[in-house]
Amino acid sequence: MTTKRCYYEILGVDRNATEEEIKKSYRRLAMKYHPDRNPGDKEAEENFKEAAEAYEVLSDAEKRDIYDRYGHEGLSSTGFRGFSGFEDIFASFGDIFGDVFGFTNGRARSRTAPRAGSDLRYDLKLTFLEAAQGVATDIDVEKLERCRTCDGTGAAPGSSPEVCPRCRGRGQVTQTSGFFSISTTCPHCRGQGQIIVNPCRACRGTGRERVVKRVHVKIPAGVDTGSRLRLRGEGEQGEYGGPNGDLYVFIHVEDHEFFKRNDDDVYCRIPISFVQAALGATVEVPTLTGTEKLKIPRGTQSGKIFRLKGKGFPHLRGFGRGDQLIETVVTVPTNLNRRQEELLREFARISGEETSVS
Ligand SMILES: [Zn+2]
Ligand SMILES: [Zn+2]
Repeated sequence: MTTKRCYYEILGVDRNATEEEIKKSYRRLAMKYHPDRNPGDKEAEENFKEAAEAYEVLSDAEKRDIYDRYGHEGLSSTGFRGFSGFEDIFASFGDIFGDVFGFTNGRARSRTAPRAGSDLRYDLKLTFLEAAQGVATDIDVEKLERCRTCDGTGAAPGSSPEVCPRCRGRGQVTQTSGFFSISTTCPHCRGQGQIIVNPCRACRGTGRERVVKRVHVKIPAGVDTGSRLRLRGEGEQGEYGGPNGDLYVFIHVEDHEFFKRNDDDVYCRIPISFVQAALGATVEVPTLTGTEKLKIPRGTQSGKIFRLKGKGFPHLRGFGRGDQLIETVVTVPTNLNRRQEELLREFARISGEETSVS
């Protein structure tokens, strides 16, 4: 049994090295000793394994701590065994090899693996009243679907994709060196396993085409700007039996000239004349669903707020509705006729009020 070298020495870093330094150094060594670059070189293989083991320990805070304090002995007493082979190494460091070498380390996605379609977004504008009452409408959504000209194969009608000669349809190539082998994505067909010699002109060989799909949506009463509806399966088509994506409808509600919204309450201001304010009156008030009669008691001041229970927006979650809040604005007449003015002056005189003389 040979004595193990110091992990810090193997990676050529000092004992205080940061995670980043350790990773950098390991990547450099992995590149240098990678079996692809040194086919059949036993020494490179050993160096490669040694570096992987050192990295495995030093990149893990807990293992590094044990190693720092108790050395190789301490680690093996915790059950740490290093790597049994290259399969192990690639399984552990898939991401590092992936971005160094562009490898998928034998886990290349099969070309027939189900793939879910992407989600789509649609922005829908509603009027204030549509948001209050709910609406059913058709929207036109642009999406990618299987090309109808080539039925998704990407090959021009009358031709068909050919089996990739490099990987013979596997989508992966295997390189053997020494006692291990590494599978990588076939560079010739990019893992597709087939090559399109004569591409479909409708989709330029992609097998997908842009189509506009009409989707019927039911918008529930009570939505507001920022509400989001999810329509399952109305997104992009899945591939190879994968599920379709979803369609998200984002709601934007336009302002209203008369109403304002505050959560599920609706607010408005109504003008009443100073006579109505003084003597009381019944006025007709527009609501989200029609009109309502509102009783203004005698002596109502400007700015007084009345509440119509349950005349606001329906609650999206749960039952019931918000209220309608009505603020009175007492208006002052501007164009008095002679008779009106006489009466007002009389009124002022009786009340003992000063008025300007005209
Ligand atoms: Zn290929
Ligand atoms: Zn096509």
